[in-house]
Amino acid sequence: MSFTNTMARDFPHALPANQFVNSTQDCLAPHGVHRGSALPLIATCRDELAFALTAELQRAWGPAFNMAGLAGLLTLGRTGVAAARGHAPIVGGRRTFVVIGLTHVGVDDAGVLGNCERPGVPGPSHTCGALMALHDELRGGDVHTSDYPYLDKYDPEQSRLRERITPRVADPANTDLLAILRIARDLIDQDTDAVIKVLRDDDVPADVAVFTGIHIHGPRGADYVDLGRCFFDRNGEIVPLSL
Ligand SMILES: [Zn+2]
Repeated sequence: MSFTNTMARDFPHALPANQFVNSTQDCLAPHGVHRGSALPLIATCRDELAFALTAELQRAWGPAFNMAGLAGLLTLGRTGVAAARGHAPIVGGRRTFVVIGLTHVGVDDAGVLGNCERPGVPGPSHTCGALMALHDELRGGDVHTSDYPYLDKYDPEQSRLRERITPRVADPANTDLLAILRIARDLIDQDTDAVIKVLRDDDVPADVAVFTGIHIHGPRGADYVDLGRCFFDRNGEIVPLSL
């Protein structure tokens, strides 16, 4: 296997990260959405590897409200989103938000999913560590979840991630990182719907562009994005966006 093989097999439609960033601007410009007229809300993993793309998105869209949590899952909750709601500029009596939510994974030269390079760290490093830790627990039959939401006060993000992903894994002992990664992406998709509801729960009407997917860290700093959902919700009318 090689990096190219794994990308063709698992992420055949992935775009180079810079193309993803530019396309978010290009596809929203015809709708009158541009830097300065919209507030970006960004959820990427806490991993510093995810930050180069976050920085590029902020170069394109301006300083973002940070929704980041482990694996890119949104952990700011309703209160966090409601705070962001009041921060967007009002243009023509409306607010516009650009919501970007990306989980992530490394793929190394040998095509190994979960492996990545980190400057100064000898040998292969790993990412996303939060999803890989859960993968290890699932395969080892060592995941404890309950029928009611469980929150470890000293490990809040990972316990919530475990609680949400585990029930969706069909065969825990034989699951793989790709399956877990796709569940994380699907949860982010679900969360963006909840974000839209909170952004709309206001006297000022809100339009919301959404971009989700999987951020892939390739060899030598090459980043890619495998797109999930891309649409512009204009006053409840869903306009699909093609990047
Ligand atoms: Zn991560």
